[in-house]
This record gives sequence, C-alpha cells and structure tokens, in this order.
Amino acid sequence: MLVLTAAQLGQLITQAQNSYPEECCGLLLGHGKTVEQIWPTANSWTLEFSQAMPELLPSEPQSQSRRDHFAIAPREILQAQKFARTAGLAIIGIYHSHPDHPAVPSEYDRAIAWDIYSYLILSVENRRVTAYHSWTLDGARQFQEETLQIQPSQSRTL
Ligand SMILES: [Zn+2]
Repeated sequence: MLVLTAAQLGQLITQAQNSYPEECCGLLLGHGKTVEQIWPTANSWTLEFSQAMPELLPSEPQSQSRRDHFAIAPREILQAQKFARTAGLAIIGIYHSHPDHPAVPSEYDRAIAWDIYSYLILSVENRRVTAYHSWTLDGARQFQEETLQIQPSQSRTL
C-alpha cells in the first residue's frame, strides 16, 4: 500500500495534465510507504537513451519520443537524494504519466524498474487524468498493483 495526501495527488495530476502529450515524471520522497513530498523532475528522455539500451525498446519508430518514454537524469536523482537525506526522508517511489495509454506499466517500465520503489502511473487522455495506479515488482520481477490510500490533506501532521 502507498499512502499519499489528496493535495499530493492533485499535484501529480496537474503535472501530468500540463505535460500532455508528453510523459511527465518525478520522484516520491517519504518514509516507508508514506509519501511526504512530491519531487517533480524533467523528462530527460532523448535519442541517446534509446540508443544506449536498444534491447529494452520495441522497434516502433515512436519509441524515441517523450510521448511514450521517460527518463530521469542521474543528476536530478542525486539532488533529490541529497535533499531527502537532509530532511530525514528517502526516495520511495517514481511516478510518470502515460498519455493516451492505460495506467499500466509497459515492458520498458518493467525493464528499468527497481524492486525497492513504488511505481505510480497516471493515465492522461486529452489532457485529463482518467486513472492512476501504483505498482511494485514481485520476486519474479512482475509488476503487481498496490493499494493507494489517499488521505485528506489536512489530517496529516508532520
Ligand atoms: Zn510507463
């Protein structure tokens, strides 16, 4: 189960809708399975990423587009890690959007996933978020959906 506030979810939805038709992405900072802070990042997907890992990508021509791929630059992950450590938090998940696709991990998502993180995916159709689901890898490296618990924002005491 992944726990986040309604305000945090609202922040993710806004970012996903504003990034449409490209994928948005970012990190979830918190402790355990509780999100304390959303850390938006740029989608740094480029042609170089796809050329660096051709085995991960299907051969469709669109696979080199930020409309169906995302990447978070290592520099941005380091910045988030540094901030999280100072704040007594950790990176607990990665989120991204699927423009005009279901909120279900792709084969690429699975290939690059780490089993310690939650993977929150938002589906955006015509600039509106229509679904969001969170996923974690099981022991066989298959994604299983995890429950999302959305808390009223004012009830959280930090
Ligand atoms: Zn994806």
